[in-house]
Amino acid sequence: MAADNMGGGSDYARREQGYRDRALKLYPWICGRCSREFTYSNLRELTVHHKDHNHENNPPDGSNWELLCLYCHDNEHSKYHEHRLYGGDETPREKEPEPARHNPFAGLKGLLDKK
Ligand SMILES: [Zn+2]
Ligand SMILES: [Zn+2]
Repeated sequence: MAADNMGGGSDYARREQGYRDRALKLYPWICGRCSREFTYSNLRELTVHHKDHNHENNPPDGSNWELLCLYCHDNEHSKYHEHRLYGGDETPREKEPEPARHNPFAGLKGLLDKK
């Protein structure tokens, strides 16, 4: 959400300004998701999304950028987080070899026993 306003400092802001300007020159001012069009008056609501979610990856040809309005950008990121939460395998969680403690059939067995 307002994550861009937290931390980072001026160095980050300057860098972001750099690629945003470039992306705005490369691409039409249209949200890649909802096709909303932008002009100078509302351009601040158009943001640069990194397709691979790596803000350090800024190829000069813009291949990692996508222009998205604030809302679609938010959406895009919550989707990504959900993916990481439920499907991702690179969650930065403590890695300890877990014994096969979790038995997927435990619940089923309980059900069967009750009958
Ligand atoms: Zn949009
Ligand atoms: Zn993004």
